[in-house]
Amino acid sequence: MNNTSEAACAPSLADTGRDIAPAADSVANLREAILRRLTYSVGKNQASASEYDWYLAVVYATRDRIVEGWMASTNAAYVHGPKRVYYLSLEFLIGRLLGDALNNLGLTETMRAATRELGVDLERLRTLEPDAALGNGGLGRLAACFMESMATLSIAAHGYGIRYDHGLFRQVLKDGWQQEYPEDWLALGNPWEFKRPEVCYRIGFGGAVEALTSPDGATRYAWKPAEYVEAIAYDTPVVGWRGAHVNTLRLWSARACDPLQLDVFNAGDYVGAVADKMRAEAISKVLYPSDETPAGQELRLRQEYFFASASLQDALRRHLKQYQEVRSLAEHVAIQLNDTHPAISVAELMRLLVDVHGIAWEEAWKITQGTISYTNHTLLPEALESWPVPLLERMLPRQMQIIYLINALHLDSVRKSGHTDARLIAAVSMIDEHAGRRVRMGHLAFIGSHKVNGVSALHSKLLKQTVFRDLGTLYPDRIVNKTNGITFRRWLFEANPGLTRLLADTAGEGIYDDPMALRKIAPYASDAAFVGEFAAVKRQNKVALAKIILDRCHVKVDPDVLFDVQIKRVHEYKRQLLNILETVALYDAIRAQPYLDWVPRVKIFAGKAAASYHHAKLIIKLANDVANVINNDPTVRGMLKVAYLPNYNVSLAESIIPASDLSEQISTAGMEASGTGNMKLALNGALTIGTLDGANVEIKQHVGDENIFIFGMTAEQVAQRRGRGIDMRETIARSPALREVLDAIGSGVFSPDDPGRYAGLVDILTHHDHFLVCEDFDAYYACQREVAAKWLDRAAWWKASILNTAGMGWFSSDRTIAEYADEIWKTQAQKKE
Ligand SMILES: *Cc1c(COP(=O)(O)O)cnc(C)c1O
Repeated sequence: MNNTSEAACAPSLADTGRDIAPAADSVANLREAILRRLTYSVGKNQASASEYDWYLAVVYATRDRIVEGWMASTNAAYVHGPKRVYYLSLEFLIGRLLGDALNNLGLTETMRAATRELGVDLERLRTLEPDAALGNGGLGRLAACFMESMATLSIAAHGYGIRYDHGLFRQVLKDGWQQEYPEDWLALGNPWEFKRPEVCYRIGFGGAVEALTSPDGATRYAWKPAEYVEAIAYDTPVVGWRGAHVNTLRLWSARACDPLQLDVFNAGDYVGAVADKMRAEAISKVLYPSDETPAGQELRLRQEYFFASASLQDALRRHLKQYQEVRSLAEHVAIQLNDTHPAISVAELMRLLVDVHGIAWEEAWKITQGTISYTNHTLLPEALESWPVPLLERMLPRQMQIIYLINALHLDSVRKSGHTDARLIAAVSMIDEHAGRRVRMGHLAFIGSHKVNGVSALHSKLLKQTVFRDLGTLYPDRIVNKTNGITFRRWLFEANPGLTRLLADTAGEGIYDDPMALRKIAPYASDAAFVGEFAAVKRQNKVALAKIILDRCHVKVDPDVLFDVQIKRVHEYKRQLLNILETVALYDAIRAQPYLDWVPRVKIFAGKAAASYHHAKLIIKLANDVANVINNDPTVRGMLKVAYLPNYNVSLAESIIPASDLSEQISTAGMEASGTGNMKLALNGALTIGTLDGANVEIKQHVGDENIFIFGMTAEQVAQRRGRGIDMRETIARSPALREVLDAIGSGVFSPDDPGRYAGLVDILTHHDHFLVCEDFDAYYACQREVAAKWLDRAAWWKASILNTAGMGWFSSDRTIAEYADEIWKTQAQKKE
């Protein structure tokens, strides 16, 4: 990766011209602190320091300003004893931390001045930090936003996950094809983390279960694993807004108990001697790069159990240290499972309570259910996790016994309550008997939790009607909704300092602490002076993005055209294809009637496809093929361009979002659980074009029906349409524009080097259109013309844009976390330390 070109175009740090929180630190203090760190921690002097050495010194100096608050927060949790929250997530999509830490400490401007005096540029240093990409997409990013909000709200929380040596792959586009390269964020070390080799747990795998009869005649079970792996803790402090509270993100790294087998080594088998070590350490080697599909591999289950067990052992150890007994766990601890990846926690907590701590089953079950709650992230049947019973029996024999017993007791109580219908019993059983016996991890998480939540109002409603229809009827109070949110510190204050300054100048400094205060800019939505400044900020951001597009895509775009943006994982249900088809239709229309008053626009795409998802990778290639043809066609005269930015990640999102005019949220209704990209874009003044799916429904309510473009089938209509079959020949026959587009793509107009490349893709759209791209095409095309009409009415456009920003306060993840704290965790903010 060419770091130099990335750095040149990076967005500037919170350039608010002043520090938001008055800094206790002076510029001189900070300058001296950086120099001390450069000397004593990096071991360099000013003359020999490289840019990266300066970056390290600046991070260390910043980190030093977090550590005291960290210890104070940690101490306060022991002294005041607030309920602790443990957020278990296999993914944390963090991005860079330097801007975040400085911004939350209120030290950005002071640091900028201090580095300037030392002759180094803070903006430049910031780009040297690799993104921590320990996640695939929305689910992992949500966990990162939640960590920041929990710290901001002074909730005594730990995040638990895996410290992957290699995060999500780096995407390179070669001739428009996605290629995956390993990502190496730890190559130069990680100055944010603290290794805690003394915090180490043994994690067992395999072996057998022994039944022991104790003197009182009761039977106890002891698991004798065949193999152990050690989990080592690495801690990263997470500082909340204004530096008031600091929590810990604790990530586990796998280590072999024995570094090598010396006898094997001495016999000359050097590779064999470290084979066990390699097998053990494979657990935290790499993030599974799949999104919305389960990984299904044995190593994945090892990852899930490894981090769940280490986290629970750690939580129990901390509880025992504080309260000297485990029976009060549910009173003092809330464990949130981010999707089913940590669902094995239900069985593991029961094992620890019953087998290790000697608690009777019934009491242990009350404690487990009282402690755990679970967030569901998807309704897609293919994404629901389940593991074969034989695999669990072999890898986790005691946990499998426990799952069987939980299930037996659960089904007993179902029958006792009068439900004897065989269909219902099969539907609510934790064991799926359809294709060999498998454990349904969603059912395990549901049954082991006191609350289960969906992530938008629509998704929670559909959860009750589909995946958990029967369980939801048996336990009617268990399913609740917690609509997702995003942290405004990263997605507004840091990503868009120009807009932030304007908002604070207009609505007052209150916006920094109360997102609902953004409403105060609504009265200025038609104020010419304010609109002028709002438009100027957007233009500046678009100029910066245009530079990035030129650099990375070699496409020259005019910052005054409409920036039409679709950035997210590439998946059929998100329907990048629908956007590409509309692009081609627009291209055809412009060429047919070049004299019309077309709205010039650039379609901007970014997103990765799972390495094994061939169809999604073909969609990326199609977008790039279409871009090639359109961008090089002189008859379009700049009315339309297409740019596919490679290697979408958090940092790239921070550059694209503040520069966006139109936000594409066009999933097949009923399939996007919430979306959070939709929130980031609307907050930054992009108008949404979208279906009534996920949180789009609630965004519409908050920004106003006139300020969002909604088209297409509702979730109900999608279900009905699928009921009539998904052959689209009649639909296509009714739409001349769609027919022309499909003919062009299918016959190789965009792939002259390989005319048959998209024949299969067009065939699927024609005969087996599960995502109903064709059915929504005409509505989408018409809606895009409404977008264009609004764009031409500049005052109307800016008014809608401003009302989007004004209306998005509710989507702060602080609001989401406050709801979890009140209704699920039953914890309150900690006393000020
Ligand atoms: C917010 C975000 C996502 C989620 O985007 P959706 O549009 O909600 O799918 C994915 N990846 C990154 C890098 C993000 O910042």
